[in-house]
Amino acid sequence: MSDDDQKAQRHKAVMQKQKTKVDARIAEAQQEQGIALLLTGNGKGKSSSAFGMVMRALGYGQKVGVVQFIKGEQLSGEELYVRDHCPQVTFYQMGTGFTWNTQDRSGDIAAAERTWAQAEAMLKDPAYQLVVVDELTYMIAYKYLDEEKVLEVIKNRPSEQSVVVTGRGGGSALQELMDTVSEVKDVKHAFRAGIKARKGVDY
Ligand code: ATP
Ligand code: MG
Repeated sequence: MSDDDQKAQRHKAVMQKQKTKVDARIAEAQQEQGIALLLTGNGKGKSSSAFGMVMRALGYGQKVGVVQFIKGEQLSGEELYVRDHCPQVTFYQMGTGFTWNTQDRSGDIAAAERTWAQAEAMLKDPAYQLVVVDELTYMIAYKYLDEEKVLEVIKNRPSEQSVVVTGRGGGSALQELMDTVSEVKDVKHAFRAGIKARKGVDY
């Protein structure tokens, strides 16, 4: 047997072993239920990942809700696209600027509560198979929303409904509750090298 043949055989054996392991794990996961996902961390990619899941859900004709806290003045590409092309998506935005621009705590709290009411309605409606609550973590961190109430609603949502929460931080209680928690690490960001935020990439 040549060296190449031996390598190929070894590779095949390793892959077979790997496949057996993966197949066993797939067979073990028997629970059918919606998934609660937290995308957090200081790196770029949280909200855009959530919109990736919106696309996935839409591919299967699912009804989707998106609620965005902390909206910048800048429109985003996802907002423009969803508004024009995705009638199955209910899109709601807090509608105020960034909190560090508004500098109005009581106004921000009222806006946060109004916005949460929209999210809560979706999180109680089994017609929605996916609900994205974008930048929710800041509302909890600033105590604009009552953490316990928010967690209760997420916990008691319809069993087939998935929810994606995004934002930095989020706290240990939220992390505990969610089924999947991913932290996007900030290794480097173009902005810090003086490169301007870009359409289609950053917004
Ligand atoms: P995206 O919406 O691009 O997935 P994100 O949701 O992970 O980003 P946010 O904190 O919501 O991050 O910030 C959104 C905007 O800020 C985007 O334009 C993004 O490129 C930029 N941004 C995200 N992380 C960083 C960072 N570490 N340094 C500088 N700018 C950042
Ligand atoms: Mg974001």
